[in-house]
Amino acid sequence: MSCIFCKINNGEVPSEILYRDEDMFIIKDIDPKANKHYLMIPTKHYKLISDMTDEDADAFARSIRKIPTLSKELGLENGYRLIINQGDDAGQTVFHLHVHILAGQPLDFPDLKKQ
Ligand code: AMP
Ligand code: ZN
Repeated sequence: MSCIFCKINNGEVPSEILYRDEDMFIIKDIDPKANKHYLMIPTKHYKLISDMTDEDADAFARSIRKIPTLSKELGLENGYRLIINQGDDAGQTVFHLHVHILAGQPLDFPDLKKQ
């Protein structure tokens, strides 16, 4: 398995795991795009939302609902943005589904059509 997130999950690649439960783990993004930039990564490897089984979807829903309970630890008190990049147009680079958690500053919402 060459997946970088699976390697982090099993300890082959070192990374500080900020939170872990039976469904997912949270790490800091290595190339942060905001003052606080975390990745919430399902423990089970699958690539895309379209690959989710019903069981995966249940685990994912539990994981999303966990984020507000970690608000203080992660510094999300003033709000946060969740992003899932899917496929080439979104610029997905790691094909193990993950949710970006951006926070720690006001987050503008660029009009991408104008770029
Ligand atoms: P995406 O472009 O949505 O597939 O996001 C992949 C993210 O994984 C990028 O923001 C990378 O900076 C991040 N990333 C890649 N390798 C690592 C790593 N070893 N530790 C933490 N974050 C990583
Ligand atoms: Zn993986």
